[in-house]
Amino acid sequence: MAEVIDGKSVAADVVRRVKDLTGELAAKGARKPGLAVVIVGEDPASQVYVASKSRTAKECGFHSLQHTLPAETSEQELLDIIGELNADPSINGILVQLPLPGHVDAGKIIQTIAPEKDVDGFHFINVGKLCTGELETAFVPCTPAGSMLLIERVRGKDLSGLNAVVVGRSNIVGKPMANLLLAANCTVTIAHSRTKDLPALARTADILVAAVGRPEMVKGDWVKPGATVIDVGINRIAAPERGEGKTRLVGDVAYAEAAKTAGAITPVPGGVGPMTIAMLMANTLASAYLAAGLKRPSF
Ligand code: NAP
Repeated sequence: MAEVIDGKSVAADVVRRVKDLTGELAAKGARKPGLAVVIVGEDPASQVYVASKSRTAKECGFHSLQHTLPAETSEQELLDIIGELNADPSINGILVQLPLPGHVDAGKIIQTIAPEKDVDGFHFINVGKLCTGELETAFVPCTPAGSMLLIERVRGKDLSGLNAVVVGRSNIVGKPMANLLLAANCTVTIAHSRTKDLPALARTADILVAAVGRPEMVKGDWVKPGATVIDVGINRIAAPERGEGKTRLVGDVAYAEAAKTAGAITPVPGGVGPMTIAMLMANTLASAYLAAGLKRPSF
């Protein structure tokens, strides 16, 4: 059976280290890191994510600010708030919780965030830095950055000679994940909904990342023996065995089957999920270190 990669424990390590490094920043006389989270509307899932981000920021010893705005907030009001946060020296990271209501151009809002405060890593400057290998100053999207840390725990930092297959080509997960693997010297293939014979391609992967959003799509016989399998998917499915109307979370990988063949695998929940918020804290800390003229800590 595969080694189970415990994302909860790695995320807790990251948060602990962020907290320690926040203390060191204060000891150097610098400002503590500041994270501003902006949420528009009442989406219940977004409210849960935002509460959790603000809670973890406080746990890390950050200055934490939250703008909770009504769904009818205009695009201009939002742009004005981003402008104020960009100019506020007590804020190092600005996170606008997605999705935004339909009348707001999310792309325009994201590109208005100052690149050095774009701790989500969605600004074109940060995307460009990741693509060109400027990793010292790039902010990398939190979910792929966290997935990479889990891969490094199993395989080390240099992935020379390994084949990686990333299933999914979104700007938030698939593409940045592929760029991180490439920067670590993997030979990378990105698969998507138009890829031919995905099972055969997946079987070539020493590192297989699934970021699709389709419950248990990756089957056990898609997995090369000994492969490292990173399941980014979070899908809620009906679980009548738990009682009427009950649900449960599953990933994009058929875990029980895949765990028989993989060398190491992330569970859902408890794998990649907890890493996302931890890496948001790491990015905000990095922004504070860079703003103070200090070398960015590595994780
Ligand atoms: P997305 O934007 O919907 O992208 C999904 C990708 O999967 C697309 O590139 C799509 O291909 C590809 N795809 C869809 N059906 C496919 C198929 N049958 N075969 C091969 N590829 C297929 O999703 P996302 O934002 O990247 O998220 C992916 C999953 O990760 C979701 O379950 C999401 O909930 C989860 N997620 C988790 C976290 C976390 O914190 N753990 C964070 C973000 C996302 P095309 O481009 O051809 O359409």
